[in-house]
Amino acid sequence: MVQGTANFNTEQNKEWLQEYVDDWVSFYRKHTSEGEVASYIPLLKEANPEHLGIAILGKNGMEIRSGDVDIPFTIQSVSKVISFIVACMDRGVSYVLDRVDVEPTGEAFNSIMHLEMKKLDKPLNPFINAGAITVTSMLKGKTPDEKFKTIIDILEKMLGYRPSINTEVYESERDSSMRNRAIGYYLLETGSLESDMNMTLETYFKQCSIEITVDDLARIGLILANDGMDLDSYEEIIPRQIARITKALMLTCGMYDASGKFATYVGIPAKSGVSGGIIALSPARVREENLPFIDGCGIGVYGPALDKQGNSVAGIRLLRHIASQWDLSIF
Ligand code: GLN
Repeated sequence: MVQGTANFNTEQNKEWLQEYVDDWVSFYRKHTSEGEVASYIPLLKEANPEHLGIAILGKNGMEIRSGDVDIPFTIQSVSKVISFIVACMDRGVSYVLDRVDVEPTGEAFNSIMHLEMKKLDKPLNPFINAGAITVTSMLKGKTPDEKFKTIIDILEKMLGYRPSINTEVYESERDSSMRNRAIGYYLLETGSLESDMNMTLETYFKQCSIEITVDDLARIGLILANDGMDLDSYEEIIPRQIARITKALMLTCGMYDASGKFATYVGIPAKSGVSGGIIALSPARVREENLPFIDGCGIGVYGPALDKQGNSVAGIRLLRHIASQWDLSIF
């Protein structure tokens, strides 16, 4: 725990926090050597495994940025959070949850096993590939571009700029998408898709290829921490009920088959992607006065060296450390 009696949530004391986070980033950077960058999407192999960066954005506008914060990366599975929110806003929560369940799988993100072995009538949750592809099929629009626009529109509202696609990553994923196509065909057979399969997959590959930064993830995290409200305009970007369901799903299903461990040892809602990004957030805490980011914060992490579950190996360790030092856990 950071010691002292100063109020950590003032600009004057930002420097202290900055120094701590800088130290922690350089310490945990060593752990990047324990992981490997994703290779099943060929272009992701080009990432530098030693990169590690974090942005933490608080409600009062305080921001701590440390490490490799200026490297853009593709959003990958973090986009599942956005597509789920958009589908719920457009179709209604019950429509979406009638078609995708809210249970953790304990299996890899691209596993198809449960669907087939348990003869499930719907994918287990929207944050595994089968569930996310089903959700994407529910997005409004008759073409991939129209569907994709619904995702980019809400991102633009949250970020204040319109992010673009990394075309090379998009093509790389599209051309090496055997597993996702297998999932698509399975969902087609079971009648789970609300739109044409190829169009759905094309939209899904596009949404995964949106290029963002840790600052963007921190900003989206902060909006979720604030139950969907934009902190500058006080506009409700995400309805409160949808923001809450999304956070519950992040906590229970956001880190693939390491979700239980992350909830236990870190204790905050988060969602990772295979490019090494993690979005996380801490809601406002009421239990003590003098804690950094007591009013809540959004966190963006980038560290492309992944562990066996496909989560940023150093990013998770860094988050675990910060959460324990600053008592961020929601429990
Ligand atoms: N685009 C990736 C895929 O569908 C996203 C997976 C992930 O980030 N875990 O395989």
